Amino acid sequence: MTLFQARPRRSRKLRTRFRVASLVLLAPLVAVAGVSAVALGLTRSSAQSLDNAEQQDQHIEAAYRHVDDVRVLGAALLATGADDERAGLLAAEAAVDRELRIIVALPPLTAAQQALVARAESDWQSSAPLRQQVAAWAPKQPLDLVASVEDAFTSALKGVTGRIDTLRADNGIAVAALRDASAGLQTTSLVAVGIALLVGIVAALAVSARLSRTILRPVERLHAATDRLANGEHTEVLATDRDDELAGLARAFNSMADRLVERQRAVDLRERRLAALVENASDGILVVSAEGTVVFATPSLRHEFGIDDKQSESLAERVHPDDLENVIRAWGRVGAEPGASSQAEARLLHADGSWRHVWAKLTNRLADPAVAGVVFNITDVSERHEYEQQLTWQALHDPLTGLANRELLRRRLEHPPATGTSPKHSLLYLDFDDFKRVNDRLGHASGDSFLKEVGARIAQAVRPQDLVVRIGGDEFAVLLEATAARQAARAAQRVVTALQAALTLDDHEVRPSASLGIATVGVESTTLETLIGDADLAMYFAKRRGKGTVHAFEASMRTDLVEQVQLGEDLRVALESGALTVAYQPVVRLADGTVAGVEALARWEHPVRGAVPPLTFIPLAEQLGLIGRLDEWVLRQACGQARAWTDAGLPPIRVAVNISGRDLANADLPDVVRGILAETGLEADWLELELTESVAIAESDDGRGVMQRLKDLGVHLSIDDFGTGYSALGRLRSLPFDRLKVDKAFVDELRDTPGGSTLVETILEMAQALGMEVVAEGVETPVQAAFLRERSCELAQGFYFSRPVEPGAIEAMLRLGTGTATASARP
Ligand code: C2E
Ligand code: MG
Ligand code: MG
Repeated sequence: MTLFQARPRRSRKLRTRFRVASLVLLAPLVAVAGVSAVALGLTRSSAQSLDNAEQQDQHIEAAYRHVDDVRVLGAALLATGADDERAGLLAAEAAVDRELRIIVALPPLTAAQQALVARAESDWQSSAPLRQQVAAWAPKQPLDLVASVEDAFTSALKGVTGRIDTLRADNGIAVAALRDASAGLQTTSLVAVGIALLVGIVAALAVSARLSRTILRPVERLHAATDRLANGEHTEVLATDRDDELAGLARAFNSMADRLVERQRAVDLRERRLAALVENASDGILVVSAEGTVVFATPSLRHEFGIDDKQSESLAERVHPDDLENVIRAWGRVGAEPGASSQAEARLLHADGSWRHVWAKLTNRLADPAVAGVVFNITDVSERHEYEQQLTWQALHDPLTGLANRELLRRRLEHPPATGTSPKHSLLYLDFDDFKRVNDRLGHASGDSFLKEVGARIAQAVRPQDLVVRIGGDEFAVLLEATAARQAARAAQRVVTALQAALTLDDHEVRPSASLGIATVGVESTTLETLIGDADLAMYFAKRRGKGTVHAFEASMRTDLVEQVQLGEDLRVALESGALTVAYQPVVRLADGTVAGVEALARWEHPVRGAVPPLTFIPLAEQLGLIGRLDEWVLRQACGQARAWTDAGLPPIRVAVNISGRDLANADLPDVVRGILAETGLEADWLELELTESVAIAESDDGRGVMQRLKDLGVHLSIDDFGTGYSALGRLRSLPFDRLKVDKAFVDELRDTPGGSTLVETILEMAQALGMEVVAEGVETPVQAAFLRERSCELAQGFYFSRPVEPGAIEAMLRLGTGTATASARP
């Protein structure tokens, strides 16, 4: 249904009115025509009368002239009697008769004129005898006769001419009157026609005015209403009370206006709704022209991003420079094809100066005249982005230290940066030597602090672009991109140096020490894939070589590892087949050099490799879970040997046996010890169990319980390698130990500085204060021995006195009463 649909039935009022108006307009025309016709008729009859009168006039004139001719010719005939005059006279008489007949015959003669004509005719007729006389006049008549006849003749004829002259005058008056009448009639006709025209025009104007009133006014109203409607006003409803086409038009207009208003309202409502949606939408819409200027921006974008769509600013100025290429690429993808869309994520400059992450969907609406641009649907994804970043960060970082984790390292190795200068990447792999001790002794909170601190130190020691990774536990790594082996070694050294400084944890001073492995891609068959494993292996070997060392990866380590596995197998076999032996190192009284006791040390002579050091096979046994059996075996051997020496009549000495920390986890250990003592017949008092410091001070209740039960057996307990575990001496008071073995590292310091070491002195003083015995380990020089003796250190052990030896050599010493392998007494 269209707005201006034709209606099937129409009122014909207007048409009728036009017809009536046309007819009305005809009336003045008819009037003019009528007046003109009447005037014409009148003029014509008046002209006829005038014409008749004028003809009469001519004939009267002619009659007059002919009568006069008769008079003149008669007079001449009377004088001459010539025949010519006679003929002329007769012709003139005939002409007078003819004219008089015509005059009588010509209508219309007034009654007066008829009377005049009749008198003139009668006079003419009366002159007939005289005229006949004249006509018959013979020449040469007496003159007096001639005169008398002539007089009579002239007088008669003058009478006739007088009559005719009167008639002529009368007729002249009539002609003049007729002329005047005709002229008057013409004027009257003209005036009548003029009046008729005037009346007609007035009537036509009146009719047209009326028509215009009935047609133009509604049309004008319609026009005005249309104008108002066009301007968006619809205040007035057009009158439709009449029953004509214009009322129909008004009705159509009203209905159209209603519908338009209705639609406008719907459009307004929709617009308001849209505006409200747009206003409150979290997403924004941008329209960007083909030239890249912003031509429209929703309020949220205007407020949040300060984008001003009136100034036609360039979108490029609002996009983060690093993301611009991304956006340009997305723009390029939609550029060519109408309706094409693409997406991009970019940072937009927020009104507060920060960068917000937005996701934009671009749609090409350049061809759509209503839009004429590329539409950007923009969603602020900053929170999501932040959350994702956080998740990604969490997935790729160690929460404790904030360093990268193994996964990030793996990813970096999967996609290493293109390296211009050096194609080599190196990896440092660190493991702290004593972390477990820190954790056990100072608690986990301190352990965490330790890890954070050492992580920070490592990060400080390397370049900012190097990736510092916490692999897990106390293992760290540093990925040195584009770094060859030599620089990597230097970096490793810097890390070691940075770690060396003591740090204070919970009022305790701790000296971190780490074993460090280095692997470099391209060196020793290391590839990106094997980099981590190789560096780890190098670290493992560094640790094996001695704590706090750095070791670069060597391809042979891989086979060494295989060998390690083989070695473990061999150790198992050796243990089962009793292929291990025990060496004994004397513990000497510094005062007199006599043997106060021995330390039993396991020895393994590998059938192929020869002697395998305990530092290799003891950790291996721990790893393989063989240590309990190994220690039990050594304990049995040592106790048996001690008993054998006593049985052989030698002075009884205390035998010290090393117990692994893992043994302490075995609650049966006291029973095992008691069993062995019973089995070998050794008194508990002659047995000493050595526990390394870190094990000794472990906070585990189970471990303490085991220690206490061992103590209750009557055996002695000593703390081995004292000084490396950072325990405060005061804490030892609560532990069931009666002997300290000062670690070789402290004794070593005495080597070149005879002036003495405050550390050893302190340990000695404290131990004495606690009533504990002290054994100085690893005494290698007489200077060390002398120093220790001077400081009232009672016992010492070391190569200076004797290396670990076989039981026979100890027996010899005991017999000689000296703690040295040779007979010569040292101290
Ligand atoms: P440890 O218990 O501290 O033993 C002393 C170590 O220092 C021995 O090394 C000994 O040979 C060495 N030593 C003694 N005096 C000197 C010296 O003057 N200079 C130098 N350079 N070294 C000296 P060894 O026998 O190689 O044993 C190493 C470690 O292996 C032992 O350290 C102990 O912790 C462990 N160990 C040895 N045997 C056993 C065992 O049967 N069971 C357990 N659990 N551990 C054992
Ligand atoms: Mg020991
Ligand atoms: Mg020791």
